Amino acid sequence: MKSVIFIAPPAAGKGSQSSKLEDLGYTHISAGDLLREEIANETTLGVAIKKIVAEGKLVNDDMVHELIKNKLLSIKKPFILDGYPRTIYQTHLLEQLFKEMNINDYEVIYLDITLEEALKRALGRLTCSCGASYNIYYDNMKPLKDGYCDKCGKELTKRADDNEESFSVRFKTFKENIQPIMEYYKNINKLHIVDAMLSSEEIADRIKEILI
Ligand code: AMP
Repeated sequence: MKSVIFIAPPAAGKGSQSSKLEDLGYTHISAGDLLREEIANETTLGVAIKKIVAEGKLVNDDMVHELIKNKLLSIKKPFILDGYPRTIYQTHLLEQLFKEMNINDYEVIYLDITLEEALKRALGRLTCSCGASYNIYYDNMKPLKDGYCDKCGKELTKRADDNEESFSVRFKTFKENIQPIMEYYKNINKLHIVDAMLSSEEIADRIKEILI
């Protein structure tokens, strides 16, 4: 199967669809997870970016690229790039890196979602350190026991940036940056648009058809 780049507004379902692909043997590279890991470990980078990420603003392009590059060099294909690239400059850095690494066997999937639906998904989202994700606003996504993970039993947490204020910055930033990125991938015939308002299973089927 081909590798995939997910470009989508916040809370469009990149994480959930990535977990489904991980079950098929994909390596998941999430820019947001890599940055949150730096913050949790209180590295020099983590300390410098904590406030930026909590406010929903973008971290410096070259810093994020360095993390993505190191990860890409260390993993098995096929991979999922989730949340990268997010600016046209990152897109060009990635293009250069793909050239150097001889990577061309990939597709780009845009998960299309309305602002209202994405906001609801973000505000209801609870996550576990094991990677599982839940949503208190959807009956089929609630944990069996309030506040605890079905898979490992640990306490669930809410992301620091899943509040209305930070969400609106993240959504606005996304909209401001996405057009040239989509045009770039459309021009090289890599872009696919999938309706993220469909059920999770329908979206997964559509993604599989694209990546086969
Ligand atoms: P996410 O988990 O994809 O929602 O990302 C969480 C936050 O991490 C974003 O709101 C940004 O602050 C930061 N971030 C994630 N990916 C990038 C990126 N490609 N470029 C810059 N900042 C990013």
